[in-house]
Amino acid sequence: GDSSNLITNEMLERILEKNRIHIGEGKVADYIPELSKANANAVAFSVVKQNGEVVNVGDVSQKFTIQSISKVIALMVAVEELGEKEVFSKAGYYGTDKPFNHYANLETKGKPLNPLMNAGAILTTALLGGENDEAFQKILGMVRYITKNEAIGYSHSVYMSERETGHRNRGIFHLLKNNGLIEGEENRLDNYFKQCSIEITAEDLAKIGYFFANQCTRFDGDTKYKNSEMSKLVQSQMLIAGMYEFSGEYARTVGLPSKSGVGGGIVVSVPNKIGIGTFSPGLDAQGNSVVGYHMILDLVNELNLSLF
Ligand code: GLN
Repeated sequence: GDSSNLITNEMLERILEKNRIHIGEGKVADYIPELSKANANAVAFSVVKQNGEVVNVGDVSQKFTIQSISKVIALMVAVEELGEKEVFSKAGYYGTDKPFNHYANLETKGKPLNPLMNAGAILTTALLGGENDEAFQKILGMVRYITKNEAIGYSHSVYMSERETGHRNRGIFHLLKNNGLIEGEENRLDNYFKQCSIEITAEDLAKIGYFFANQCTRFDGDTKYKNSEMSKLVQSQMLIAGMYEFSGEYARTVGLPSKSGVGGGIVVSVPNKIGIGTFSPGLDAQGNSVVGYHMILDLVNELNLSLF
C-alpha cells in the first residue's frame, strides 16, 4: 500500500526537532572556503509522497549548493546522450572504501571506480563536451526540469571558491586526460565546479529523489524522460556509492539509494514510492550531513521503508 499517506507535517516536524540534538556533532565544510559561511543551525526536511504531494518542514526556503548530488544528474545526462555502454567503458560500476576526492586507481592508468566519486563525475561532465559552459547548462536544465523550478541557478561565489581551491580536482582532471579517457581544456573542469555550485532547497532534492524512485517520472506526472533502465542504473549507483566510503554502513542502516553533498544536502529515493530531501550543513568525517542522516534513519524506521 501507499504508506506515504501516513507522512504528515507533524511527523516530519517531530523527527526534525528530535534530531536537532545532533547539530553540534557535524562540522560545516571549509575546504571550499565559501561553504564555511553556511548557517550551521539550519535544518530542512522534505518529502514528495507517492501521489506527488510535497510535505516540507524546517528552514524550507533555505538554499544551499547541490555539490556532489549534481553527480547523479550528470550521470543521467551523459547516459542519455552517449549511452550506458560508452560511459561505463570509461568508468566502473564499483563501490569504494575511499574518500570522494580520491584518485583511486587513476595513477595506474585505470578508470574512475564509479561516476559518483569526483573522478567519475569530472569524467561524465567532460564527456558531455561542448563549447564554454554547454555541459553545465545541460545539467542545470535537467535539474530545473526534474524540480519544475526554472528559478534554480548557481552561486557564483561558491563556483569561484571551488575553482580557486580545487587543485585536487584539477589533478584528477589531468590524470583522466593522461589516461586518454577525456579530451579538452580546463573549461571542461569548470563545468564540474559550476554544477556543484547549483543552488537548491530540500524540496528540490525531494523532487529529484522522487524522479529516480519512479522510473524518471516527474512529481507532477510528466513522463518526458520516463525510463526504468535509467532509474535502475542511477539508483544502483546511489546505493553502492552515494555516501562514499560510508555507503556500506548506510545500506545496512537506511537501506535506500541516496546521495549526499558537502553543501549539507542528502537526497533519498524510495524505489517506486517517495523522494526525501534533507539539509543540515554539519558533516561527518566522510562528508555526509549528520542531522540529515539521523532524520532519514528515523523516517525510514518509522515507516519501514528500507529495501531489506
Ligand atoms: N564540489 C565538491 C568537490 O569537488 C563536491 C564534493 C562533495 O560534495 N562530496 O570537492
